[in-house]
Amino acid sequence: MTGTKTIFKKIIDREIPARIVYEDELSLAFYDVAPQAPVHVLVIPKREIPSLAAATESDQQVLGHLLWVIKKIADDLKLDQGYRVVTNIGQDGGQSVHHLHFHLLGGRQMKWPPG
Ligand code: 5GP
Repeated sequence: MTGTKTIFKKIIDREIPARIVYEDELSLAFYDVAPQAPVHVLVIPKREIPSLAAATESDQQVLGHLLWVIKKIADDLKLDQGYRVVTNIGQDGGQSVHHLHFHLLGGRQMKWPPG
């Protein structure tokens, strides 16, 4: 199983380092290694869910929890001017790590539509 671990599972298991900003029994949040904004945090479930598309009804609680964690981190980081939350799903969504994650982006004016 070790050979199939995603990079995020390795961060959860403390096999590779990350700048962790928040952790609880269900979730982990850490700074993105290639930030796209002054604040770029990734919020992930400890449970291995490959993407939002792979979530099941039994994941409802953790999905809601992740959004609550994002809100708390945004408050802690004083993103008072606003921020963006993104989850990329599959090939068309541009997902590169197949462990569900929400990008919390802030600290600059976001543009729309995204690329
Ligand atoms: P995705 O493209 O799947 O939506 O987002 C994956 C994100 O994970 C990217 O923003 C990428 O920079 C970030 N990332 C990839 N590898 C690592 C890593 O080893 N550590 C951290 N902190 N972020 C990573």
